[in-house]
Amino acid sequence: MAKQDYYELLGISKGASEDEIKKAHRAAVKKYHPDNNAGDKAAEEKFKQINEAYGVLSDPQKKAAYDRFGHAATSGGGGGYSSGHGGFGGFEGFDFSDIISQMMGGGSRRRRGPAPGNHVEATITVDFMDSITGTTRDVELSIRDTCDTCRGSGAKDGTVPESCRACNGSGQVRQAVQTMLGYMETTSACKTCRGQGKIIKEKCGGCNGVGKKGKKRTIVVKVPKGIESGQQIRFSGQGEAGDVGAPKGDLFIRINVAAHKDFKRRGNNLYLDKNITFAQAALGAEITIETPYGEERHNITAGTQTGTSMNLRGKGVPYVNQPNRTGDLTVTLNITVPKNLTDNQKELLRQFAAEEGASAETLDSGKKGFFNKRKK
Ligand code: ZN
Repeated sequence: MAKQDYYELLGISKGASEDEIKKAHRAAVKKYHPDNNAGDKAAEEKFKQINEAYGVLSDPQKKAAYDRFGHAATSGGGGGYSSGHGGFGGFEGFDFSDIISQMMGGGSRRRRGPAPGNHVEATITVDFMDSITGTTRDVELSIRDTCDTCRGSGAKDGTVPESCRACNGSGQVRQAVQTMLGYMETTSACKTCRGQGKIIKEKCGGCNGVGKKGKKRTIVVKVPKGIESGQQIRFSGQGEAGDVGAPKGDLFIRINVAAHKDFKRRGNNLYLDKNITFAQAALGAEITIETPYGEERHNITAGTQTGTSMNLRGKGVPYVNQPNRTGDLTVTLNITVPKNLTDNQKELLRQFAAEEGASAETLDSGKKGFFNKRKK
């Protein structure tokens, strides 16, 4: 037997004020009070019901729950509620801790209406030099877009998806749950339509009912000068298509910068090891240094030691967001010992060593060894 609506019982409308509810209750009590209806079983029952109704409608919290969920909210273990769906499982099996965790985390995460598209991420690799000078790349990607055949509905041509009856097309089911904190509402995705709010009877052949389909698209990626490996460029609204009526996701292109054989990057500065000969270091020389902006000639002074570094201002990496600022290039000089000498070079070095030895005691043992070996 269906329970009578509490408002109906009191003869008021749903929008009735607190005062109106009070007045209606008082009037009903007068009318059905057992004192005034001795022996009338129907009146007695009615009297009970109006008191029950008043008990709920006079309590703001209970009233709110009743307004939302009807008798399900007050039946304490009677039947659950899912909007528009009758036969939902009861409250009793519901785990209280689930509800609390949903409240705390705000985890009911209700999604109203069509869902926006997913973000898409893709990675491209650019040459080291391109990362410094900037470059433009055409990137071909397959991104899920709205199906042309069904225009995103997922339904076969000439048919339309039906609104899901289990959730009245909302994609969500609500449950009223009584907890020690009062009545609470939890929301979850409708199982019947898997949160879609609609059911496709005949699927679109173009997308197998999904409404979206991978489509090849060429994205022109302008890689700004100075970009660092791992940085991403965002293309707003170029990701996957959302549900019909919802915005697309974004596309993120992650830039991977290939390592360079000579230059090392730290922040916006570059580091380069430059080999020079012993003669260049000793005598001084004009040497060629490779920079990202072309070769440059630089003088090294006579007597340069290995490990000496030179700082070339502004020859490093541009700052992405500061067009006029560029890092430096630090060049570390490395003196190499020659191998595979010609006979003439050897003779010259011996003369050099002999002359050096005359003024450097520390070379004495080395010199002896040198000449001893030669005698053999
Ligand atoms: Zn389709």
